[in-house]
Amino acid sequence: MGVRLIIMGPPGVGKGTQGEFLAERFGVPRLSTGDMIRAALHAGTPLGERVRVYYEAGELVPDEVVLGLIAEAFDGSEASGGFVLDGFPRTIPQADGLGELLADRDIELDAVLSLEAPEEELVDRISGRRVCGSCGLVTHVRAVGEDAACPDCGAALVQRSDDRAETVRNRLAVYRAQTEPLLAYYARSATGLTAVDGTGTLEAVRDRLFETLRVAEMAG
Ligand code: ADP
Repeated sequence: MGVRLIIMGPPGVGKGTQGEFLAERFGVPRLSTGDMIRAALHAGTPLGERVRVYYEAGELVPDEVVLGLIAEAFDGSEASGGFVLDGFPRTIPQADGLGELLADRDIELDAVLSLEAPEEELVDRISGRRVCGSCGLVTHVRAVGEDAACPDCGAALVQRSDDRAETVRNRLAVYRAQTEPLLAYYARSATGLTAVDGTGTLEAVRDRLFETLRVAEMAG
């Protein structure tokens, strides 16, 4: 049976990248509400049009929208063998909704991971983040330079529309106000909360996460 994990943390802490490492390692899908929302935006679906103003302002999209996306993913066969939830839940009502979805399906979480890094580091990581419009690579101007092409496929690298400086500050404020309370929520839950240092290289953080889960596995 695959693992069932939540990876939480502020914008820019590396949830997406590390969530992908975890998903690969355990052979389960990574379910990212941010990716689902971006897919709807790019495809111009009615749902995408409905959430565009929230997304571009760095605000959270309404709880019922993301709960609907997650319920759909759970009801497909995709997540039946386990999952890594990335960027969800982000509010107490979302966490309550997730609790109901899991209870209805007799599923228990194996771990809730909280990745942590200082705020200056987050702003730097996000404002320098670039994504490939063609293959989806996520990189940083530190690694590739300004105005570089994608090192993997040669297409143009672009900045995510919510990665502009004004929006980033709002996303961090929204995180502190609406998502941070979930750390205490999960710390009090039966699963508990496992904090992991998100600073250092991608590989260092990845190894720290793997080690944390291995230790948890032995203890459990
Ligand atoms: P980051 O964690 O770096 O902010 P994400 O891709 O997870 O990146 O989220 C980007 C944006 O997508 C958020 O600012 C918000 O507008 C929207 N979003 C993603 N997940 C959720 C969620 N669970 N609830 C509400 N809005 C969400």
